[in-house]
Amino acid sequence: MNFSWKQGLVLASLVAAAGTATAQSYPTRTITWVVPFAAGGPTDALARDIADKVAKPLGQQIIIDNQAGAGGTIGSGKTAKANADGYTFLVGHMGYMSAAPALYKKLTYDPVKDFEPVFRFPDTPLVLLVPKSSPYKTAADLIAFAKKNPGKLNFGNAGVGSTSHLIAALFASKAGIQVTQVPYKGAAPAMNDLIAGQVDAMFDQTNTALPQVAGGRIAPLALTSSQRMPQFAGVATLGEKALPGFEAATWYGLYAPKGTPKEVIQKVHQAYLKALTDKAWGQKMADLGIQALPEAQYAPEAFARHTAAEVDKWRKVAAEANITVD
Ligand code: ASP
Repeated sequence: MNFSWKQGLVLASLVAAAGTATAQSYPTRTITWVVPFAAGGPTDALARDIADKVAKPLGQQIIIDNQAGAGGTIGSGKTAKANADGYTFLVGHMGYMSAAPALYKKLTYDPVKDFEPVFRFPDTPLVLLVPKSSPYKTAADLIAFAKKNPGKLNFGNAGVGSTSHLIAALFASKAGIQVTQVPYKGAAPAMNDLIAGQVDAMFDQTNTALPQVAGGRIAPLALTSSQRMPQFAGVATLGEKALPGFEAATWYGLYAPKGTPKEVIQKVHQAYLKALTDKAWGQKMADLGIQALPEAQYAPEAFARHTAAEVDKWRKVAAEANITVD
């Protein structure tokens, strides 16, 4: 059958109208957010909390699919190739969405080209933790031991290129020490081994570290935030004493596979902005050490610029701190 150009135009506008109608009725079924780490870790905990809130205005359930492995890069690679129909998203963070291109020789996705940023989450600082039975009472104690015993301290982490890995590597580089990094499939299994004393130390995000510290299962040595936190009473920041100027936090956010309709992205972003108006929820986040950002930074465009800038930044930081994949 031969189409005239006029028939072609009519067909094109019909297809476009159908796309808009689909976006208008979106979502009509359950949505999946991929968390590329084990359940029970900081990414999983934060994602579940935010998903619950975002699901309400959208009127559909959001389920979390944990696809752990290789510092988050396996789940990210798969999500990059998922249908761009608004029903599959990636919960991304600083590691696999900005540092990974500098670390992994063969990455199956490009954080900038293969995804559409949807919104940024609030930032989460980290805390240097040791088992309850540890001989180190301060970060300076631990650094002093490591200076005399290169490579002897084992640091648990959530996988190569995870935040816990990157921050431990930056910490070691700034302190002029060598530590042995032990990768797990997420911070949750690393935390279990820290509690059991199988590893000597670990950097974990405050939201999952806090309940363990409060329960007396692990000891906090220092925070990576710029200010002390009342929730971690008596815990110094790394920057104030042990490593002047040291400051770090993980950024997170939601990404859709490239090609996801703009209207869908706007709808999910609007649902998130609605969730942020819940003051009690904001307070709950703040109580876990999670740091709210100015609203403009949550927007898809600002988050896209942030992601691209972080990819550039980590190429330099990884080279300077000599962070490599062994
Ligand atoms: N976000 C954590 C990290 O990179 C991993 C996790 O959530 O399990 O250390």
